[in-house]
Amino acid sequence: MSRVALVTGGSRGIGRAVCMEMAGRGCRVAVNFARRSDAAAEVVQAIRGAGGEAVAIGADVSDADQVNRMFEEAKQTLGPVEILVNNAGITRDGLLARMSPEQFDEVLAVNLRSAFLCTKAALRSMLRARWGRVICISSVAGVSGNPGQANYAASKAGLIGFAKSVAREVGSRGITVNVVAPGFIATDLTAPLGAKAAEATASGAALGRVGDPAEVANVVGFLGSEAASYVTGQVWQVDGGLAL
Ligand code: NAD
Repeated sequence: MSRVALVTGGSRGIGRAVCMEMAGRGCRVAVNFARRSDAAAEVVQAIRGAGGEAVAIGADVSDADQVNRMFEEAKQTLGPVEILVNNAGITRDGLLARMSPEQFDEVLAVNLRSAFLCTKAALRSMLRARWGRVICISSVAGVSGNPGQANYAASKAGLIGFAKSVAREVGSRGITVNVVAPGFIATDLTAPLGAKAAEATASGAALGRVGDPAEVANVVGFLGSEAASYVTGQVWQVDGGLAL
């Protein structure tokens, strides 16, 4: 069955890989982007080129009005969203002693408030359909913590509590809510950390290497599928055995 999937921050990195995975599974895909309309258009072209259906929708997912407009646009162009992937995320790293309230609030707004706004908007049609999949992209930092990332780890741990609570609220309506917690994945987000950080993390992972966005997307694709019908409220660590 052709489902409608919306991926926040879908224009690059893990989000892009998730868009391609969902399209490969026959979904019609809404590719959300914040600023990079060119990158989102490229993802849409790649999906259409492979015979799929996709649209790019611009919205800052920390803004309630923009989120509601985004869901309306997705409904008008593709149909009601059935699979939501809360992927958009940012870092504003720094030791707590030097972290500003703005650095804290911005990360919480983009990483956690966005999931609240998008999931609430998506649930309206999912509850009517008595079917839905919500997948939140957290991080191993949200499970184990990470020095220099108190804001980021708080937002990612918050996603876990959020997902487990909503899973309990909507499970009886055929809607599952799960979390994927990646380890170190090679994307624009981790590139500024440099090769040394990548090597250090890789050496701490049981698999001895960093991950590829597609390896996260594979798990997200499964959780969004019919095959994952009896899985909800779970945290799936896709980290190569980093946080065991
Ligand atoms: P990325 O920086 O390449 O992608 C993040 C995406 O989010 C971008 O497309 C960006 O435009 C979008 N975004 C940011 N703010 C937004 C906003 N306000 N509204 C809409 N979109 C917005 O990073 P990535 O590595 O692909 O990260 C994707 C997700 O995976 C993030 O939530 C990140 O925290 C998480 N994650 C990444 C890693 C990793 O090692 N790369 C590890 C654990 C978790």
